[in-house]
Amino acid sequence: MPELPEVETTRRGVEPQVAGRRIHALQVYDRRLRWPVPGDLQLHLVGRSIDRVDRRSKYLLFRLGSDTLLVHLGMTGSLRVFHTLPPRRAHDHVDLTMEGGVTLRYNDPRRFGAILWLPGGEPEHALLASLGPEPFDPAFDAAYFWRETRRRTAAIKLALMDNHLVVGVGNIYANEALFRAGIRPTTPSHRLTRPRFARLVDAVRAVLTEAIAKGGSTLRDYVDATGEPGYFQLDYFVYGREDAPCRVCGTPIRHRRLGGRASFWCPACQR
Ligand SMILES: [Zn+2]
Repeated sequence: MPELPEVETTRRGVEPQVAGRRIHALQVYDRRLRWPVPGDLQLHLVGRSIDRVDRRSKYLLFRLGSDTLLVHLGMTGSLRVFHTLPPRRAHDHVDLTMEGGVTLRYNDPRRFGAILWLPGGEPEHALLASLGPEPFDPAFDAAYFWRETRRRTAAIKLALMDNHLVVGVGNIYANEALFRAGIRPTTPSHRLTRPRFARLVDAVRAVLTEAIAKGGSTLRDYVDATGEPGYFQLDYFVYGREDAPCRVCGTPIRHRRLGGRASFWCPACQR
């Protein structure tokens, strides 16, 4: 599943190809994504220029004046840039062609992604309105996270993955950040002290920064490439390493499901 680093890498790959360019054509081959691609999308887009591409959580936001084209990659979506368009393959659902010939092609085998039109001047769309701060936003700091969790008895890993508190910390990154912060994923949130939240915020930013940096080295895969974009394999300390020795102390890594998601920790390094 594309996580924040993959979405940010897509944004960085796509934006220079489309920003400042006018949209020449929109081809929708299959509207059946998580929600139907709007039938009148072409009327909104053709002839307009894309100013820039923003990211909020895992949503890509193509800005056209005060209007926004929202793209979400869902479970299996990808957005690629082509200067010479190859023949359509299975699961290529939408082509957005810019003047000058660059085409953005949306592919999504499982079709859990979304392409929506958000007109300017309307209240913020429900998908975006309830989102917490970005992990790199200064508003997401130890004081904020500590304050927001004083009444939360649920495990800290669940708080870390709650989009109302902070966006974009997926399962892999939550596991790795908790390891680096020395915090056991099952620890009740309200028991953690502020200094431990400070370590956790730093660890979240560090793992995401590393993953985005890895993504930077794959940027060219987003342009004129026909293979699938790769996911960024960090050298995980705990994720997927059940029973393997901890890379720091050698203790076997423990595993258990928490809120339905696979959780891994070192019983010696994380308290
Ligand atoms: Zn350890």
